[in-house]
Amino acid sequence: MYTAKRREILDICRLVYDRNLTNAAGSNFSARASEDTLYVSINGNAKRNRLRMTADDLLLSTLDGKVLEGEGKFSQSWPTHLKMYQQFDFVGAVIHAHPRYATAFACRDVPMPPLLDAMKKYGEIPVLPRHLKVDSPEFGDAIVDIFRAKGDGFRKHGHGVLYPFHGVLVAAPNLDDAYDLLERIEYNATAILSNILFDLGHYGSLIKDLHAVEVSE
Ligand SMILES: [Zn+2]
Repeated sequence: MYTAKRREILDICRLVYDRNLTNAAGSNFSARASEDTLYVSINGNAKRNRLRMTADDLLLSTLDGKVLEGEGKFSQSWPTHLKMYQQFDFVGAVIHAHPRYATAFACRDVPMPPLLDAMKKYGEIPVLPRHLKVDSPEFGDAIVDIFRAKGDGFRKHGHGVLYPFHGVLVAAPNLDDAYDLLERIEYNATAILSNILFDLGHYGSLIKDLHAVEVSE
């Protein structure tokens, strides 16, 4: 079974903030510390320290929410994180974040198509129904249903969902896969939004014309 070290989680948190994969408005992280314990980021890290966290900013919790080590409150997303581990024994890490362009894409009520080759193995990234309250039991259940329907693909690579007008959640077999998927989703969103811009007005033809331009010194 995959288990994470505190240092690995803290490194990923820093990367997520520094690469615009979230903002100070929020994000939360969890990863398996053992078969039946989790490391969980405490509430408000992004706002308080821009994810420059220390080991004290992680709680060690059992799978039924009993804190074994650390001080501080669970984040509001804790019930959703917990559900992923309770429902899928192969999930090793969960990240909720607000990536710049994927969050913009999540304001449209459509699943994100896999434009980039890097997203082909995941397929579409669904968007959750707007009427579900974020991190309510029903919200977590909807994510479980989506991930379960992905079958072996989810078991092997993990998967993600878009929170409408809000952000992204990824769950994966380990922390590296979770971070990798978060970044792929953001690059895919950037590619989609950029290509829409290229098609506006004359830019599409301008880019084609660039191939024909002769450079003069
Ligand atoms: Zn959020």
